[in-house]
Amino acid sequence: MYGTSKAEITRSKEKIISLKREHNYFIIAHNYVDTDVQDIADYVGDSLQMALKAADSDAEKVLVASIKIMGESAKLLNPDKKVLMVHPYADCRLANLNNVEELRELKRKHPAAEVVCYVNSAAELRAESTITCTSANCVKIVQAIPEDKQIIFIPDSNIGKWVEYQTGRKLIMLDSNCYVHHQISFVEANQTKAQFPDFSLLVHPECRLEVCKLADEVLSTSQMINYVNEHDKVILGTETGLYDQLRKRYPQKLLVPLSSRMVCEDMKLISLDMVAKALAEEQYEINLDGETGKKSLSSLQRMWEILG
Ligand code: SF4
Repeated sequence: MYGTSKAEITRSKEKIISLKREHNYFIIAHNYVDTDVQDIADYVGDSLQMALKAADSDAEKVLVASIKIMGESAKLLNPDKKVLMVHPYADCRLANLNNVEELRELKRKHPAAEVVCYVNSAAELRAESTITCTSANCVKIVQAIPEDKQIIFIPDSNIGKWVEYQTGRKLIMLDSNCYVHHQISFVEANQTKAQFPDFSLLVHPECRLEVCKLADEVLSTSQMINYVNEHDKVILGTETGLYDQLRKRYPQKLLVPLSSRMVCEDMKLISLDMVAKALAEEQYEINLDGETGKKSLSSLQRMWEILG
């Protein structure tokens, strides 16, 4: 936390731990939020892992230290628990680039298509889709769909292009991507790779296709964590929160962020002060309307059926 002393940070963390116990909350935090916030969480991971861990916990209340779409996933898998967001407005800009009407229009044009939707999407978009996927399983999900079936893939066209490249399938997409990952050009990635020739370059599939092709591995955040567990020299091509987390966990390893500009502004709205406020005031509760929840869950269940 910029401008805050170590003693103040420690005091904030102690206050949060005490409030968490008093109100019996299970706190989940995403890999991209500030590491001080990650420190006070009961679980840190990607969006689906966070929601599943909360469902496994005995706590009746869940606090989501992340963005709105991840709060919706947590509510989806914890329908009987009270789910609170730390911040009322923090949300994913990618997830909000496409609205439901644009997707419905695509579905009208391609009525027989499967609609594969990245899990980091608004609940309304997932409710309009037939299968959910994650950045770790998107290739496998598309490969499982019969060859003669058209596929609409939303919302991230960079992930879609990576899937097309990996599977040889043609996907129907909208032109949207994550600004945090899309801003990295081939030239910039190539320069960093040349600067650290004996490091492995890992990138998230939300990066441009030419950057993915340049990388040694194209991985989800959880897969990057597993990779760093096993390797000592790594360039991390994703949001800097993951780099900060791994640098803290493995001070002896040589880790480099692909770019210090890979910062998700909404993820960084989640601060210790906001966590303490949310717990003290027991706000901001998130709810899903019944029909949206039912359809989003069915799309997620198709994913699990395919993965077996
Ligand atoms: S990093 Fe990109 S995809 Fe992830 S929450 Fe931020 S805007 Fe959305």
